[in-house]
Amino acid sequence: MRTAPRPWPLAVLALISSLFASHALAGPIEKTLRRAEGNVPTPIFRPRPSPQDTQPPTITETPPPPATIEPTKASACLTQLSQIALAAPASGPKEEDSKCRIPDPVSVKATLGRFPVEFSRELTLDCPFALAFARFVRDTVQPLARHHLDQPLASIGTGPGYTCRRRNNAPSGKLSEHAFGNAIDMVTFRPANGAVLNVTSPSQMQQDQARFFSALRTAACGSFTTVLGPGSNPAHATHLHLDLGRSKDRKNPYRICE
Ligand SMILES: [Zn+2]
Repeated sequence: MRTAPRPWPLAVLALISSLFASHALAGPIEKTLRRAEGNVPTPIFRPRPSPQDTQPPTITETPPPPATIEPTKASACLTQLSQIALAAPASGPKEEDSKCRIPDPVSVKATLGRFPVEFSRELTLDCPFALAFARFVRDTVQPLARHHLDQPLASIGTGPGYTCRRRNNAPSGKLSEHAFGNAIDMVTFRPANGAVLNVTSPSQMQQDQARFFSALRTAACGSFTTVLGPGSNPAHATHLHLDLGRSKDRKNPYRICE
């Protein structure tokens, strides 16, 4: 006589169910762990080498990071100058055994902005002076040209700025401010489309040119400590000299505005 199978106790069913569940969830990680526990050698994952990895390693010496250079007064000046002028660092005077020197030499080619003004040559100047001159050209000379000459100024004919010489090219005496890159001579003014203005006595200039030049010369006295031009002395009959020399001498400050 057959007896109907007895139902499995609930506890047994629950145990079987949990065993199936744990087996189904066991992923590769768990399998690997189980192998490790059973002292079965565990495969070690090694990434396939990329073509670069197969190349023999090249030994490159990494250069040490550059030393941090604190911004100096000079570089700050050139940074400021570069905002308003085409400027670059320049080498200083080469004359040895000479007292000629430029503390922060820069070369300047033009002012920048909406109405740029080019210089006839690359000027070598001490940066603080170059900054004062570029500002003067951009903020004063150019607006005066547009006002009096009815057109923007395209270029200014100048001397070189730095020259290792004495005042007025004399064989003896004090060094000129040019010997420190602290002066500039302006010889001609060339409007974008008009007659070139040669610096000379205003009586020999056209009326609008004379007004422009007189206004420029008067304004220069507000930006520079020495302004000399036609009428000052014979050495300055054909150019306008601007410098900032005396402003450094606090014990003996004076201005020359002639
Ligand atoms: Zn000069």
